[in-house]
Formats: sequence, C-alpha cells, structure tokens
Amino acid sequence: RSFKTKEQFIFKKYLMKKPDNIWHPFTQMKTDTNTLLITKTKGVSLFDDLGKEYIDANSSWWVNVHGHSHPYIGKAINDQFNTLDHVIFAGVKHPKAIELSRRISDILPEKLEKVFFSDDGSTSVEVALKMVIQFHHNNNVDKKRIVALSGAYHGDTFGAMSLGERGYFNEPFEPYFFDIECLDFPKNETDNHFIEQAKEIFAKGDVCALIVEPLVQGSSGMRMYSVEQLESLMKLAKKHEILIIFDEVMTGWGRTGKLFALDHLNIHPDIVCLSKGLTGGTLPLGLTVASEKIYNAFLSDDKKKALLHGHSFTGNALACAAACASLDLFEEKQTWDNVKNIVYKHHLFKEEVQKDEMVSKVRQTGTILAIEIKIEQESGYFVGIRDLAYDFFIENGILLRPLGNVIFINPPYCISSDQLDYIYSKIQLFLDKIRN
Ligand SMILES: *Cc1c(COP(=O)(O)O)cnc(C)c1O
Repeated sequence: RSFKTKEQFIFKKYLMKKPDNIWHPFTQMKTDTNTLLITKTKGVSLFDDLGKEYIDANSSWWVNVHGHSHPYIGKAINDQFNTLDHVIFAGVKHPKAIELSRRISDILPEKLEKVFFSDDGSTSVEVALKMVIQFHHNNNVDKKRIVALSGAYHGDTFGAMSLGERGYFNEPFEPYFFDIECLDFPKNETDNHFIEQAKEIFAKGDVCALIVEPLVQGSSGMRMYSVEQLESLMKLAKKHEILIIFDEVMTGWGRTGKLFALDHLNIHPDIVCLSKGLTGGTLPLGLTVASEKIYNAFLSDDKKKALLHGHSFTGNALACAAACASLDLFEEKQTWDNVKNIVYKHHLFKEEVQKDEMVSKVRQTGTILAIEIKIEQESGYFVGIRDLAYDFFIENGILLRPLGNVIFINPPYCISSDQLDYIYSKIQLFLDKIRN
C-alpha cells in the first residue's frame, strides 16, 4: 500500500468516505448536515480537520470543567489502565472505587453517605427513582406519587423522561410514561404559587419523592429560582416525610459558583445524582449518593430487598481514576480562582448586555450565564434564531448550542479573561446582526 503511516491509511479508508455511518443525538440527520469534524482538543479549544480553532463555550454538554486533554487527568487514567482497567463490580471492589466513594461522601453534607455507581446522568436518576420507590416498598408503605417541577429535564431513559417536560422531544414515547405530579416553575423570585400547589399535593399523604434540578433548570432554558424558594419547598416536603432527590448532574462541580448547588442551602436532600463534570469530562460515570436512612431500608436477610440494579461497566476503574484526579484539581486554589473570575466577568457582562434592546432577560448563577433574546414567537427549542446563532458563533470560532432563543455560556474553568471577552464581544456582534 502507498500510505506512509497507519494514520494516513485509516484517514483515507474511513474518514474520507462520505457520508459516514454516524447517527447523531438530537439531530435531524436529513437537514442538519453541517457537522463539525473535530480532530484535536486542548484546554478550552477544539480544532477541526482544517486546523480551525473553536472555544468550547458550553464545555461539551457541561462535562468538561478543567479543560480538554488535561495532562493530570490523562496521567491518572493511563496509570490506572496499567494497574487495573475494569472488573465486575458485584462481589468485587477495587481501590479507586473505595477512594472515590469516601471522597464523595466527604465533600457532600454529613448524611449523604452511600454511593451507588452507574454510567451517566440518566442512569444516576433511574437509580435514584428505584431507590425511593423500593425504599417505601421495603418498608411496606404505600406511597407512589412522584413530584417534579414543570420544564424539568432529568435524562433520556424512560423513568427520567417520565419526570421531564412533556412536548416535542418526547411525544412518541408519552403513552409509555408513568404519571407524575408537576409543580409550576416559579415565574420570578417572589412567585410562590408552586408552594401552594405543593401543599395541596403533599397533603394527600401518598407522595413518595420530590425531584428537582436545584437552583437552575438546564434544558428548559437555564431558568433559575432562589435558595429561599427551594428551601421553602424542601421544608414542606420534609414536614410530610417526602424523600428529596437533587439532580445535580448539571449544577454540580462548581457551575453555581460552589462545588454543588446544595452548598448554597441549609436544608439537604436525601439523594444526590452526579455525573457530567464528575470525571472532568473525560469518561462516562454516574453516581447516586443516598443517605443512611435510605440505604438502611435495603438491609435485610431477604435478598429481594437489595437494590437489584447494575450495569456491566458499573464502577469502571478508569472513570473512577479520572473522577479522583478531577477532585484533586478541585482542591487547588487555582481552580476556584478561575471559577471566581468567570463569575465576576459574567456579572459585569450581564450588567452591560441586559441594557440591549434585543435582550429580554439575562440570568446568571455562578459560572452559568444565559441571555434570552427577544423574539415574536413563543420561545422554544426549534425557533429559527437558534440555528442562526449557532452558525454565527461557529463562523466566529465559538462552539455554543443555544436552547431556542437562549444563548448560554458555561465554559471550562481554565478559560482566560481574553477568551471570555472574545465570546462576549461576539455575542454583542450577534445582537447587532439581528438588530439590522
Ligand atoms: C444532562 C442531564 C441529565 C442526563 O445526563 P446524561 O449523562 O446526558 O444521561 C440528567 N439531569 C440533568 C439535570 C442534566 O442536565
């Protein structure tokens, strides 16, 4: 063969062929054909096959927190691979899983102790659901109702979808969902209508659990609610002995300015779901962390009372090593200085951009900044402004995926002030462009 290297051979044989054989997520494969080919990542940057650089302004779907191809995490994964790659996790444990479980309980509030491993955010939510359902089952208590907030997103598996907002994303599957009770998402910081709704629903006495995305609802367009609002809801749930699940898949790992959203609160949930930034964005891993109270309800001489759930890659040692390395980086002052810098700069830009006539609302929690653009139609995922914005930022070397008319930035924490300013300036340019 005439190729000098194996890489060249692979490139010609597989990459040059069009179309490729990938079926992408959340993608209409007929019309959404301008897919980027990324061939290298480094820090906040992605590079395409022609060498063009893009700032990863949404941290590759929230997962990347310390920057891409971080050498410290890379070394940890490599060392782990050379020591122990993966073993069955039933009847077997390994040092990295032990270390991770201990460190996770240490950084969470006191009562959140027991760590169940799975593979991603959706499965961490499925496990939480099974925990609360079986908790009551094991205790012979008939409580089946699950309460969520409207507009919620908890993942794409059936249990998680049943908890989420109904609509065009899930339409074909809706007949297969289980029923839940939905509280209206508060319209603003003083809207407590959802508390009134909760009072009525909770009083029925059959509520099994309440699940929320704490402080920030992601997929519904970075909608935010206050610590006080969330605490009142939780107080009410506690009063009725309703288990509380925090889906911190998105809000975890510094996004809200603290390590977890729950660190802003004085009341704590019974279960926390973690994923996305957990491994620094390198390998898939989900954790469902439960209180002793929940864990104890599964202890019995009856084997059927155990949590009979698991995945083949549960407790994967490479993912555990990446997560421990990411935790090391969170112990460094530099990481938190970086977080603070983003919070500060977002705040300054927020003050500036909210004066723009094209902007209807600007919201910020920690490192998450969301800018809602004024549009005539009702806002939603498929509005035209979304595609216009996406293409504009790609052209300008920024990868961000707006949610409908909401442009949001949640970059890896190693982003520089100059790179942030560059993104802000392009957002302003985009507003100018749609103004005219
Ligand atoms: C992304 C997300 C999930 C689902 O996680 P996956 O890893 O994509 O399955 C669940 N809950 C929230 C709040 C999320 O943002």
